[in-house]
Amino acid sequence: MIKFEHVSKVYDGKVAVVDDINFEIKRGEFVVFIGPSGCGKSTVLRMMNGTEKPTGGSVCLNDQDISKISETELKRNIGHVTQQTGLFPHLTIGANIRQASRLPRSKKRTDKCSNARIRELLKMVGMDPSEYIDRFPSQLSGGQQQRIGIVRELAKEPDILLMDEPFSALDPITRKNLQDDLKKLHGMVKKTIVLVTHDMNEAFKLGDRIVLMRHGKIVQADSSEELLRNPSSTFVEEFIGLNRPAKCTETLTVEKVAVEVPITASPDMGLARATRRMREMRVRTLVVVEDDETLIGIITARDIRKHKNRPGKIADIVQSDIPVISEGSSAKAAFEKLFLGNAGILPVVDGSNRLKGLVTRSSLAEKLYKVVWDTNGYDNNDSTTDLDVGATCS
Ligand code: ADP
Ligand code: MG
Repeated sequence: MIKFEHVSKVYDGKVAVVDDINFEIKRGEFVVFIGPSGCGKSTVLRMMNGTEKPTGGSVCLNDQDISKISETELKRNIGHVTQQTGLFPHLTIGANIRQASRLPRSKKRTDKCSNARIRELLKMVGMDPSEYIDRFPSQLSGGQQQRIGIVRELAKEPDILLMDEPFSALDPITRKNLQDDLKKLHGMVKKTIVLVTHDMNEAFKLGDRIVLMRHGKIVQADSSEELLRNPSSTFVEEFIGLNRPAKCTETLTVEKVAVEVPITASPDMGLARATRRMREMRVRTLVVVEDDETLIGIITARDIRKHKNRPGKIADIVQSDIPVISEGSSAKAAFEKLFLGNAGILPVVDGSNRLKGLVTRSSLAEKLYKVVWDTNGYDNNDSTTDLDVGATCS
């Protein structure tokens, strides 16, 4: 359907930003272009709808050279979705969709976009038509606006949908939902979709085929299975490696790897009672806090054992010079303090040194395991949903 033969693009006689690339995209395929910033992904995409002309080679659409196809024809057959939805702020959602279905530079309206069709399209992206059709773009969330951006392009009934980092401005949950919906949509509408992203997880999730680019060249074009199993070079390996697990944990904050309830004690608690509390709660360390939760330090079973024959209070032997971590920090920072810095446990504190949580080696290991490896057993409905596990690891 789309064929690039020895296509190059050189701006101002300088280096080629697209360098002699060859590929073919079949009808109905979902192809994802990925690669480091500036490697030429967007340029390739823009050459597919003629907004950018190759300086060498040829781009064909259904065996016809794209330079021979009129701009109107290209616009009608190829939808283009970017981060900027380009919705008209003064038009309602319904009017925005209808407007898009008009042929460019023509007063003629296609009859494709009846009200019924608009309603159908809205339903397709999970938006209740009666609720949204008369709203204005500013009355929608970013994710909803992006959905309308997609609907607008679909309203043209294009054969091909080009999408340039369509979700990268959205929060992780919205992004995941839109990815899910786009995947479903592709199954339903059977359009050819070409999407550009820099998110390897998005590529793995959506692409039938992934085209990895670097310095204007295609490094490898394969299914995700094949990319993982047979990376063609160390660059591919590293690109997948660097961009994949890291993304899984990138939104993970220290709160998400903390224990449910830290076991605390007050500084004036006697050591015998402290020992009993440790036994009862099955912990070897207590976090010592004032009544107002101000952190004083920690006390361990071993500390108490050392003072076995001298009765006293926690305050007498509390370790106050201990590593702590600020709330909102990354789980990675907690990992480094706990494992690389050799701390036993890591209290989480706010700006006023009040105890907000506690990370232990086992809580961290357990939560990390779930995020990185155990995505199936992961309960997406619990309070940690915003880990966005689905978006990043599936
Ligand atoms: P990507 O989408 O992979 O980040 P682009 O295709 O947007 O990369 O850009 C590839 C390279 O071409 C970049 O180095 C960019 O600076 C350069 N480039 C893009 N558009 C132009 C232009 N109109 N004039 C000159 N250089 C450009
Ligand atoms: Mg780009």
